[in-house]
Amino acid sequence: MSTAPQVKAPMDEFNPFQAMAQRFDVAADALGLDEGVREVLRTPDKELTVAIPVTMDNGKLKVFTGYRVQHNFSRGPCKGGIRYAPDVHLDEVRALAAWMTWKCSVVDVPFGGGKGGVICDPRQLSKGELERITRRYTTGIMDILGSDRDVPAPDVNTNEQTMAWLMDTWSMHVRRTDTAIVTGKPLALGGSKGRTEATGRGVMIVTREALKKLGIRPENTRVVVQGSGNVGGIGAMLLAREGMKIVSISDIYGAIYNEKGLDIPDVLAYLKQNKKLEGYTKAQHIPSAAQLELDCDVLVPAATENQLTSKNAERIKAKLIVEGANGPTTVLADQILERRGVMVVPDILANAGGVTVSYFEWVQDRAGYFWTEEVVNSRLEQVMTTSFAAVEETARKHNTSLRIGAYILAVGRVANVYQMRGTYA
Ligand code: GLU
Repeated sequence: MSTAPQVKAPMDEFNPFQAMAQRFDVAADALGLDEGVREVLRTPDKELTVAIPVTMDNGKLKVFTGYRVQHNFSRGPCKGGIRYAPDVHLDEVRALAAWMTWKCSVVDVPFGGGKGGVICDPRQLSKGELERITRRYTTGIMDILGSDRDVPAPDVNTNEQTMAWLMDTWSMHVRRTDTAIVTGKPLALGGSKGRTEATGRGVMIVTREALKKLGIRPENTRVVVQGSGNVGGIGAMLLAREGMKIVSISDIYGAIYNEKGLDIPDVLAYLKQNKKLEGYTKAQHIPSAAQLELDCDVLVPAATENQLTSKNAERIKAKLIVEGANGPTTVLADQILERRGVMVVPDILANAGGVTVSYFEWVQDRAGYFWTEEVVNSRLEQVMTTSFAAVEETARKHNTSLRIGAYILAVGRVANVYQMRGTYA
């Protein structure tokens, strides 16, 4: 009998790059990767830090810091979002870039991985300030961008509008409208039908597939969703449409709970109008930390990193965790959840619906020919179900978790391409 590959605990439980590297090492061991190739695949190819001077609305000049990390382009142009948050740091962007490499490989879209971030608090910025930050950041990183080099997309606190400014800034510099430079754009600017819902739709599809494996029927499923943005909000809506009962959802300030099930369209309409869940009367208000430990069948962490940790993993009641966010579970939490028999559909598979439809958007922009929503959704469905099955099979073959199965599949594909191409000297 083969022994399951073991992940060592990272030195710092909350460092996302260490968490990525630990899991990568297990996959590399299972694949028997040579030390040199391992080093190449673990190391980001390029890291750019830029100063972003911006004139604020009060007339004062302020300098923000932005990053773009390109992890690996063996399988194609780097691909990955840009996030705006006060706590963005380089090790986080590095981890997120590497996760994009593995994510694109898991779903077999022809991209490598990249990620960007700007240290800022969008809640404190006006629309004009956000536009100026976006345009100057784009100018700062444009030497390494390009529709065949590195293609950004939305991520935490960025959206269609941010992508429209990025596309316009790039296009003004290259003196032509180049829509394929970025994905997640508004429909009228070369966006794809179904892109906004794609990550949530992917979450819904893999949840359905995982429930089939666990023998749980959707109508008997109680779901807790952490987050109510593009991934959590839309994910919750689509899971509810599948017949599941969404008992709790949250925003950054707190969570709401109703054991009978929330009316998700009503909650989302309230959020759209009020910007926060505070004051919503048709549910009980509970603290964010308590939400994760609610009695439920499925937990969808769809907010940010390091939410399920060695501190709370013992108390998680869900039988299935579907990672809508990138990196929500630490390595130590993984070990506890695995021992307790909780199934975890890992981020690099669970939230890959977004980049899959980004790929479709890029293809449509380059062809200048746009697909119907039915075509987009059915192709996404096919990619997600095929990838879920491939990850499951790899995990079974190696007697390991879905997470390590996904890494083995992803790292194996990238290593294979890297070795075929050889090392340029
Ligand atoms: N930011 C999303 C992610 O983490 C989407 C990236 C993309 O579409 O390029 O997967």
